Amino acid sequence: MTEQNPKEIKDLFKKDYTNAMDLRGNPIGDICVCGSELFTAIVAFEAGEICFYFLDGECVNCGSLVTLSTPIDDIGMDCM
Ligand SMILES: [Zn+2]
Repeated sequence: MTEQNPKEIKDLFKKDYTNAMDLRGNPIGDICVCGSELFTAIVAFEAGEICFYFLDGECVNCGSLVTLSTPIDDIGMDCM
């Protein structure tokens, strides 16, 4: 990316899947392998706050399918 042009939010939903991969499995963390920090997720709300989201999401930049992070990822399963 050589120059930063402002994008409209609707442009973030149009993805170029040319380099997309299926990265689902282990949670992606905060940053995609392409460097993007933005992901598309399907969410539900309760009392104005996100109460649910699917763990499968997409990177806004490269379109790869990813497993989104959850707070429990930091704790680790062996601490339960
Ligand atoms: Zn990406």
